[in-house]
Amino acid sequence: MKTTTSRARRPAALALLLYVALLNVSSPAMTGAVAAAQTPRAVATTNLTVSYELGMSRPTTHLFEVTMTIANVTAPQLDVQFPVWIPGAYRVVDAARNVQEFRAGTTAGQTLPAAKTQTNTWRVETSGNSALRVSYKVYADALSVAGIHLDDTHGYFNGTLLFPYVVGAKDRPITLTINKPRGWKTISTGLESVAGRPDTFTAPDYDTFADCPTEIGTQNVLRFDHQNVPYEIAIWGSHNYDLTRFQKEVEAMVRSQIEMMGAAPFKRYVFIFHMSPNGGGGLEHLNSTTIGLRKYGGATDQGWDSFRGVTSHEFFHLWNVKRFRPEALGPFDYTRQVPTTDLYVSEGMTSYYGDLHIRRAGLWTPARFYTALASEVQTLQGLPGRRILTVEESSVNTWFSNDNSRNSSFSYYNKGQLIGMLLDLEMRQRTGNARTLDDVFRHLNDNYALPKAGWPVGGFRKAVETIAGSDFGEFFTRYVSGTEELPYERALGYAGLKLERKDAATRDHGITFAGDGPMRPGALVNRDPSLLTVSGVDADGPANNVLAPGDMLLAINGERATQATLPLQLERFKEGERVPLTIFRGDRLLEVSMTMTGRRAATYEITEDPKATAEQKALRESWLTGKKAESSKQ
Ligand SMILES: [Zn+2]
Repeated sequence: MKTTTSRARRPAALALLLYVALLNVSSPAMTGAVAAAQTPRAVATTNLTVSYELGMSRPTTHLFEVTMTIANVTAPQLDVQFPVWIPGAYRVVDAARNVQEFRAGTTAGQTLPAAKTQTNTWRVETSGNSALRVSYKVYADALSVAGIHLDDTHGYFNGTLLFPYVVGAKDRPITLTINKPRGWKTISTGLESVAGRPDTFTAPDYDTFADCPTEIGTQNVLRFDHQNVPYEIAIWGSHNYDLTRFQKEVEAMVRSQIEMMGAAPFKRYVFIFHMSPNGGGGLEHLNSTTIGLRKYGGATDQGWDSFRGVTSHEFFHLWNVKRFRPEALGPFDYTRQVPTTDLYVSEGMTSYYGDLHIRRAGLWTPARFYTALASEVQTLQGLPGRRILTVEESSVNTWFSNDNSRNSSFSYYNKGQLIGMLLDLEMRQRTGNARTLDDVFRHLNDNYALPKAGWPVGGFRKAVETIAGSDFGEFFTRYVSGTEELPYERALGYAGLKLERKDAATRDHGITFAGDGPMRPGALVNRDPSLLTVSGVDADGPANNVLAPGDMLLAINGERATQATLPLQLERFKEGERVPLTIFRGDRLLEVSMTMTGRRAATYEITEDPKATAEQKALRESWLTGKKAESSKQ
C-alpha cells in the first residue's frame, strides 16, 4: 500500500476509518439470528465449488447485490465467513459490518436456517441439500483504493469486502458473473475471463479471487504490450493528465522494473486509476493495482511526481510482498491481524525501489532522485520516535495507532526506504559493486515467491549475507532491531555524495495548536481562533513536560499570545533562557516556564561531491542505472 498524503504519519482519513471500524466491532449484530459465539467449522470440501453473481441494479443506493451458489455440499452445516482485513491494508476493517439482508436457502428457493455465530460468520444448516444459495447486500460507499464503491458512475470492489468464503474451502475454484447496469460497457480486472460466457470470470482459489479488484463502468482504457505481455490502464473519473505522456511513463517504469527482476510473473496486468478530488494512494495485488490520484494533478510537477511515486511503488509490489514475502503474509489468515517485523522490507524497500526505478526509467534526473532521498532523511530526523522505536516494532505496530504517535513512532515506509538505500550502498562498497540489493531481491524471488512459502524470521538478513558473502549482524543490530541514528553520510560517501543539514531559519518551538493541521478524531476544536489551545508537544522541544495537550496558552512573559504573535514572541528568547508562560490547565490558571532549546528543525540536501573518485563515480553510476559497472570484481 502507499499513501500520498503523508509518509510519516498515518493519514487522518485512515485513522478515522480505523476508528469507525473499531466502534463497529462492539456494535450489536445485524438483523438475523445470533447464536452464541462458536468456533467456525472447517468442512470436507473435496468437490465443493463456489460461484457468485454480482448485481448493481440500484447503484445510487450504494448497495451491491450478491448471490452465492455453493455446489457439491456434503456437510450438515457450512460456515460462510467474511475477512476482517484486506491484504496490503494492514488494519482491521471487518467486511461483514456492511453486509445486510443475509439469507440462505436451496437453489429451488426454499429457506434454510442461518445463524450469525461470529461477527464475521454465518452458519448455514444444509438440511441434506447438496447445493445452497446465499444472498445478501453490501453497502458500498467507501471510495478508496482499499474500499468498495457503487454509484451512478461506476462499481468498484475489493473482493475481500464483498465476497465471503466457505470455511475450509478457500482452496476451491470460484466463478463470478457480473450483471452490469445498461450503458456500462467495461469491466477491468485481473481475473481471468471464462471463454464463451460474457462478463464471467474465474479464479483457482479464494486468495487469487479476492486479490483482483474490479472496476465496472464507462472507464477509459489504454493498452500496451511489453515482451508480449498485455497491460491495461483503466481510468475512472475526469482529470487533466496528458494520457500519451501518462502511458509512456507507466511503460517506462514497467520496463525498468522488469529489466531488474527478469520476467513478468503473470499473463496480463491491470492498472486501475481512480481520479478524484483527494487522490488516495495505492494498493497492490497479484497482477493488478488500484491507484487514487488527485484529478487535476496533471497540471503540476507535484501531481506527476505523485503519480510516478505511487505507480512505481505499487508495480514493484507485484514481486515484493505479492510474490516473495515474510511467511505471515500469505497464504492469508483473514480472521485476525497477522503481524510481521518485516514490513520495512515489504513496504519500505518497495518505496526504495519505486523511487530508484523512476530514476532508472529516466523520469527523474539524478538530482531529483537525491531530493526525494533527502526528504526521507528529513522526515525521519524530524521525528523523536526514531530514538525509542525500532523499525521492526514499527512494522508490527501498523495494526493500530498510538495516541502518542507524534512522539513515539515513525513510518516503516520511511525508515525502511532509507535502510534499503544504506544496505544497497554498503553491499556495493564491500563487493566492489559486484553484489547489490538488486541481487538480494532476485534471490528472494528465486527462493520465497509463490507458490513457495515466505521467508522465516531472520530470512531477509540471511539473504543479504548470502548475496554479499559477509556478515551484516552489526548493521541489523544497530539499525533494524536497534534505534541508532542511521549512517547516511558514510553510505552516501561510497557513491561520492554528500548530505548537508541546514538549520531552519525560524525557531521550531515544537508546539502545535488545535486547528493547526488536519483534524484527527478526538482533536480539540478551537471555537475562537485567537485562543491557543495546545494539541501536541514535541518530546525534544522546549515545552516537553511543561505544556500538555488541552492547555490554553494565554501569555508569554506577561504579554498576550496569539497565533500571529507567537513565533516572534518566542524568537526573542535565546537558547538556555527561561520563557515564562501563563496558561489555563482545565479551570486552573497557572504560571509555568520552559527553557528555550536551540534550533531543531532542519532541511537536508544530497549533492554530488565534485571531488568524488573514479571508483565512487562508478558505484554511483551503477546504482542509478541498475547496470553492473564494467570494472566490477566478480
Ligand atoms: Zn505499499
